Amino acid sequence: MAIEYNTFEVEVDLGAIRNNYKFLCEKGHNVYGVIKADAYGHGLIPVARALESEGADTFAVGTVAEGVKLRTSGCSKRIIALLGPLDEADCIGIVDNRIIPFVGCFEQLELLGSVANNRKSEIGVSLKFDTGMARLGFSSADLPELIERLKELPLIRPVMASSHLATSDDPAYEEYVEEQVAKFRRVLDLLDSSGFSVEPSLANSAGILKHDQINFCAQRGGIALYGGNPFCGTEWENLGARLKPAMQVSTKIASVHKLKKGQTISYGCTYTAEKDMTVAIVCAGYADGYSRNLSNNGWMCINGQRAKILGRVCMQLTAVDVSSISDVKFGDIAYLLGGEGHGAISPEELATWWGTITYEVFCILGLNPKSYIE
Ligand SMILES: *Cc1c(COP(=O)(O)O)cnc(C)c1O
Repeated sequence: MAIEYNTFEVEVDLGAIRNNYKFLCEKGHNVYGVIKADAYGHGLIPVARALESEGADTFAVGTVAEGVKLRTSGCSKRIIALLGPLDEADCIGIVDNRIIPFVGCFEQLELLGSVANNRKSEIGVSLKFDTGMARLGFSSADLPELIERLKELPLIRPVMASSHLATSDDPAYEEYVEEQVAKFRRVLDLLDSSGFSVEPSLANSAGILKHDQINFCAQRGGIALYGGNPFCGTEWENLGARLKPAMQVSTKIASVHKLKKGQTISYGCTYTAEKDMTVAIVCAGYADGYSRNLSNNGWMCINGQRAKILGRVCMQLTAVDVSSISDVKFGDIAYLLGGEGHGAISPEELATWWGTITYEVFCILGLNPKSYIE
């Protein structure tokens, strides 16, 4: 593989991901590794291999194409595609690569059914039910027709059943979780009494860590694998305290210079120095996925200390205040995420300044080339 040279560096600690997986497995008992969207930006194949080495035997990707990529990489474990098929090409990818698609509407069922018939090939599917997310999935009202249709499509074999929680990370919404659980149980009972024997899964990371009474046969762990605490800022925050962030993002300083009291900095002159300052110009900007929302509103970690963002984030440059950090010079490293000492930046902090959640921070910064440590 070509070695890509980049000043902007996204480093992924696979050891942290392995530890987070082991921690989830202490709380759950059959945890699927959710590695959709390039493993939340951490890298589909390296993350799958790391999880596999810890015993993971089921992976959940998003698109069928991601599943094909994972299978082609040599993965022989169960691969679930959370989005299910959207067209015939997806169905063929599913058959050829033994992918288990989520199937959440009749259109998907019919599409798969016709490809299964053409290919004379059995397809194992995970039936997806809507119990309160109102995004994808059959409703409970669909069940009689679904069961009838499944009986007419013997090549479509439901091996799993699933639903997705909308509020499992929020202490104010425990009741909503309970309602979803109750609806899911009714669905499972009906499937069971109709002769379908499936492996159910409902819990996401927050469900595994907080609501372990709803773990059913299997669980689907995502954000916690990457060290994002789903309970950040809530009374349940401690439940995620042992998770270790795996992604660290750094770049270099292109200039260190003085900014005199009264001078402004960067586009639009949105920051004015209140005193004489020293600023560092860091090689990171919105072209690297470092959001412009962080303008005048966020921090980096330099020499183990916090440096505040001054003025607007530019395309490939951002100014920070290093007045109180000694010895900062051209070529030094600035951490946008992670770093050393008291100044280290957690994914939750960066997400808060950015105005989003850790999921989006990882996905976007993870679009850059990555390097790995074991
Ligand atoms: C992304 C996803 C998960 C994992 O959720 P986390 O909150 O990241 O643990 C589980 N199930 C489905 C259907 C998902 O799309």
